[in-house]
Formats: sequence, structure tokens, C-alpha cells
Amino acid sequence: MAAKLIKGTEIREQILEEITAEVAEIKEKHGVVPGLVTILVGENPASMSYVTLKIKTAHRVGFHEIQDSQSEDLSEDALLGLIDKYNKDETINGILVQLPLPKHVDEKKVLNAIDPDKDVDGFHPVNVGRLMIGGGELKFPPCTPAGIQEMIVRAGVETKGAEVVVVGRSNIVGKPIANMMLQKGVGANSTVTIVHTGTKDLASHCQRADILIVAAGVPGLVKPEWIKPGSCVIDVGVNRIGEKISEKTGKKIAILSGDVDFDAAKEIAGWITPVPGGVGPMTITMLMKNTLKSLKFKLGIA
Ligand code: NAP
Repeated sequence: MAAKLIKGTEIREQILEEITAEVAEIKEKHGVVPGLVTILVGENPASMSYVTLKIKTAHRVGFHEIQDSQSEDLSEDALLGLIDKYNKDETINGILVQLPLPKHVDEKKVLNAIDPDKDVDGFHPVNVGRLMIGGGELKFPPCTPAGIQEMIVRAGVETKGAEVVVVGRSNIVGKPIANMMLQKGVGANSTVTIVHTGTKDLASHCQRADILIVAAGVPGLVKPEWIKPGSCVIDVGVNRIGEKISEKTGKKIAILSGDVDFDAAKEIAGWITPVPGGVGPMTITMLMKNTLKSLKFKLGIA
């Protein structure tokens, strides 16, 4: 194997340890810890397991954590009322509304009601604008893109002047990571191209990428011959391609694959992220980092 593996599982551990140490220091100096509330409406099993993981991680790093679970039939007005309550709650620095919401609730209206200074997911239009302006304006980069950038930086990949090609233009991955990589600053300062289903020759763009970030949700989309030798390949895709029995639990689990032909690509790239165990573990980690940042902004120590 030519490529170095960039393991999200290992980077997650480093970052969570850093956050835990910083939380302890702030607690000692300022007598407060970051507060995170997760609002879950209904009992979607995937959302419930995701929320459980967020809560577990928040406890691990020493946050004050509230899980606010509401029934499926909670009205939109009642949900907006809850958000207003947490917007005003001085002990809460981050508000997270787990998606998807039930059909009778306008998701956009709900997300836009979150105080932008507590929007640790970074999806509020104000935070999207702050990201676009960059520099000192940036408060909360969305968690998956923030995780991707952190992985690139911690792997020691040169970003300044690098050709970055992003496959996918979603609001949660493609557009924000492209914006972040083109900012003038550390871990960025790259020349960025975004490609999508309207792009004429996907292969030729990917082939000149020093850093190729793939977030399409199409297994095996990126072929080995599209990868520039020695480049850094970040595979964001998480695709269920089958099922198997877990050796640990004996239960059925999904077989996951990324958007890149990993076995062939790892022989060509200089760095590559695996799926699973690559970008996946970074999202909740960066949510913790944003929540800590939110408290630091409030204390004037960010
Ligand atoms: P999305 O909203 O479906 O967007 C996919 C993007 O890829 C779109 O912009 C689409 O182009 C583009 N695309 C799809 N097929 C393509 C093709 N054949 N050629 C070129 N472009 C193509 O998906 P997303 O939310 O960004 O997620 C992408 C993948 O990342 C998914 O597998 C998702 O599960 C995974 N993901 C992982 C994490 C994590 O690990 N923490 C977080 C978020 C997402 P158009 O705009 O032209 O349709």
C-alpha cells in the first residue's frame, strides 16, 4: 500500500482529549462548562442512535448536556417555543435539532429560529454568510467539512496553492468545504474546483487534484485512473452496499463503502481516508469543538 491512512478514529481521540483538557481548564478558571442541548422529535431509530452517540461524547468531554426528547406530534409552535427557551438559557452554548423533523414541521423555519451564536451545526444562514466571508468572521464551520479540513491539516498535507477538487455541491458538505479550502489562511489557501452532475468531464478535473474530496453518495464513482499519484483523497461517501453479521454482536450490520474504489486508490494516492473509520467519526467530534468554541466566544477567550 502506497498511501498513508488518515484515520478519523485516531484523530477523534486526539481532539476529544484536547477538548476534555480545555473544558477542565475553563471550569477551573471561569467556573463554567459548555452546555449542549439536543432536541429530538419522534423516535426515528437512526436519529435516536445518533443522538445517543452525541450525548455520550458530550459527557465524555465534560459538557453540561440536556437531551430534550419530544413526541412525534409536537407542534411547530411548541418546538419554536422550546428553541426560544434554549436561546435564552445562559447555561446552553449549543442547540442542536436532530433532523429529519416530522412532516408537519417546517425544518427551515425551525433551524432559522436558533440563535446563530448557539448554532453549533453551522447551518443558520448567518453562519453560512460568516463562513463565506471567512477570517475573523467565521464562528461555526459545519461539522463534517470542519472534520475534513482538520484531517487534512493533521495529516500534514500542504494546502497552500494545492489544487482541491470537491465532488458534490451539497449545502452540508460540498459547498462549505470548497469555501473553507479557498479562504486565505492556515489549512486552506487552495485553488478550488467543485464538480457535480452538470460537469462535462469529471475524470479530467479529478486527475489534476492534489486534494480530492469526494461527497457524492455514489459507491465506486471515483475510478483509480482519476487519482493523481501521491495526492490526498478524502472519501466522504457513506453507502450501504449490503449486510453482514457482526463478529462482535452477532447482529446484522450494514456493509459500508465510500465513493472511491479504496483498494485500488490506496496504491496510487499519497494519503487516503478509509470508509468506515475515516470522515465519519469526525462529525460529532467537531460538534463538540464548536460547542466549546461557543462558550469561548461568550467568555471572550476564543
Ligand atoms: P447530497 O446532498 O446527495 O449531494 C450529493 C452531491 O454529489 C450533489 O451535489 C450531486 O450533484 C453530486 N453527485 C451525485 N452523483 C454524482 C455524479 N455521478 N457525478 C458528479 N456529481 C455527483 O449528498 P451529501 O449530503 O453531500 O452527502 C454525500 C455523501 O457523503 C453521502 O454518501 C453521505 O452519506 C456522506 N456524508 C457523510 C458524512 C459523515 O461521514 N459524517 C456527513 C455527511 C454526508 P448535483 O448537485 O448535480 O445533484
